[in-house]
Amino acid sequence: MSNFNIERTSIPIFTIGDSTTGKTSIISVYSGNKFSDNISSTIGIDFFIKKISLPNGKNCSLKLWDTAGQESYRSVALKNVKVSLGIIFVYDITSNKSFKNIKNWIDEISNTVDINEIPLLFLGNKIDLQKERDVETEEGEKLANEYKGLFFETSAKNNENIDIAFNALIEKIYTKFKNQFNFENNNNNEKKSNENQSEQNKKISLNSENLKKKESSSSTKKLC
Ligand code: GDP
Ligand code: MG
Repeated sequence: MSNFNIERTSIPIFTIGDSTTGKTSIISVYSGNKFSDNISSTIGIDFFIKKISLPNGKNCSLKLWDTAGQESYRSVALKNVKVSLGIIFVYDITSNKSFKNIKNWIDEISNTVDINEIPLLFLGNKIDLQKERDVETEEGEKLANEYKGLFFETSAKNNENIDIAFNALIEKIYTKFKNQFNFENNNNNEKKSNENQSEQNKKISLNSENLKKKESSSSTKKLC
């Protein structure tokens, strides 16, 4: 199941996992926002745009999709996961249930994507809550190894290991898909992205309707 010949304007990455594991917090903090204890629960699907440098020094954007657990939006999220070039599975180290559920999430998206073809990142979040730990580090490592994914334990609250984890995923995506990056127009794109600076690192909310519009309007553009 290859979707990698689709030309894209940015690198789509999905976050998946039980609700309250910290998915929104992780991508929000990575996108440069302050951690909040009262982050409102995600309704529908949002994405964050984060400008990054690739290992070859070229600029590119990550489109970080945030998914909510609510049933009505789940199908939209799972449908869109097929365009991803990277998937981040998040569990909460204080919740063994959220860890066990990762396998269910994998089973569910395996109907839509071939996860062996996509770089995977497994994150055990909330390591600032060591006293409440309910999942050992080794268990997380084992799960990630089983699926040949990257593994880190993080704290969105303390901004711990977030950048390192994303950088490792970016490197893996770049190594796997570098032939599909279009660098010819990179200078133009850089100029355009400077002009659109306000578009960078901002959170965009979509409902399923304008999501479709957005997708069809961008599906013919180049990746980076
Ligand atoms: P999501 O439902 O997976 O998107 O989770 P959220 O990002 O909405 O976070 C759920 C709750 O956990 C919120 O109250 C966050 O403030 C909190 N949270 C997220 N990450 C961390 C973390 O690393 N440490 C702690 N202590 N709390 C966190
Ligand atoms: Mg959320």
